[in-house]
Amino acid sequence: MRCAAGIEARQVNELAINIDPIQAGGRLTADAMKAVIAYGDGYSVCDNCRKPNRLDYISKPPIAEFHREVAAWLGMDTVRTVPGARRGFQAVARTYVDKGDPVILTSLSHYTEFLAVEESGGIAREIPAGADHIVTAEAAAQKAEEVRRESGKDAVLAIIDMVDYQYGNLHDVRAIASALHQYDIPVLCNGAYTVGIMPVDGKALGVDFVVGSGHKSMAAPAPSGVLAATAERAGEVFRTTGITGDVTSRKFGIKEPAMMGCTLMGATLVGMMASFPEVRERVRHFDTELANNRIVLSALQSIEGTRVLSEMPRKHTLTRVDTTASFDTVAQKHKKKGFFLASELEEKGITGIIPGATRVWKFNTYGMTTAQAQYLAAAFTDIARHNGLNVA
Ligand SMILES: *Cc1c(COP(=O)(O)O)cnc(C)c1O
Repeated sequence: MRCAAGIEARQVNELAINIDPIQAGGRLTADAMKAVIAYGDGYSVCDNCRKPNRLDYISKPPIAEFHREVAAWLGMDTVRTVPGARRGFQAVARTYVDKGDPVILTSLSHYTEFLAVEESGGIAREIPAGADHIVTAEAAAQKAEEVRRESGKDAVLAIIDMVDYQYGNLHDVRAIASALHQYDIPVLCNGAYTVGIMPVDGKALGVDFVVGSGHKSMAAPAPSGVLAATAERAGEVFRTTGITGDVTSRKFGIKEPAMMGCTLMGATLVGMMASFPEVRERVRHFDTELANNRIVLSALQSIEGTRVLSEMPRKHTLTRVDTTASFDTVAQKHKKKGFFLASELEEKGITGIIPGATRVWKFNTYGMTTAQAQYLAAAFTDIARHNGLNVA
């Protein structure tokens, strides 16, 4: 089947159980698929745009209402949609960071946080995670102190991942933010792996900003995301334009420079909106997701030699394992080398782990049914047994 010459129809999530860490939370709902078709045209949400002409004021489709609902859902005062979590980091970094300013990240930070800092001329200062791959409030305070001592000024911003992409560990953002606020450092909670997956309450976390990724965790098309702010910070990051043309004397009303006026204008936004009722409901059932993760993880742990590198018990479905002493010993002798694992999984209708990886790799069980989790668990132990590994 083809969309057009040379473009095959993609059927990954129709034909397989997909455990790709970055794709599990972004799969569209059926309603989002309908929205993508209906709002695929350029500027399609602009049919009923009226004064004061800004995306978040449009009431048909109910974009204004969506903004209010998402802000309340995240325990924040104001929200804007952005083309990806990274564009949220960028808007905030551009607001607070000048050349040479230190910005606090962590040793588990995503690369897009570094790029946002770099693009604003800032300097990245990482809070080191502990041996358990957890970032603590103590380490955050120590870093803030170190920055003050070494740069003669305080960091102007901190970006802290609620759940990091490397281990899927949950970090105590509330305690970290409280420590950093002692230094008056605004704190952005990076919820790329949490907003739309599990409950996130920015007020309870005591953060200045919450960023979410639509295409990673809110069952929305790419590129999409949200940037939420407290009332105090909203006036800073969502400041309105003051520029005037010298020939025409034109002004641009209430457009926001950090958002470049309007952001998501079609399928991305309406897709995210269409999924929102289901997303808001699903975060309330994260315990079921963790139970499914346990089914798969126990099976992996029953394979002799397998180690879990993520924190235990798991608080998120993204999990990192080390199978150097199990699946990799098979790879050493197998004619397909390290590709045997992905290949045997593929034969069983499971996709999403990096082909060739048999040492350290990640998987995400988010969104699967319990029957699928049991099937996946059995697939791992079957492959292990079939290749001569001991299974408890
Ligand atoms: C995926 C990811 C991002 C980037 O999200 P986009 O929405 O693609 O910009 C940022 N931070 C973390 C921790 C991520 O896992």
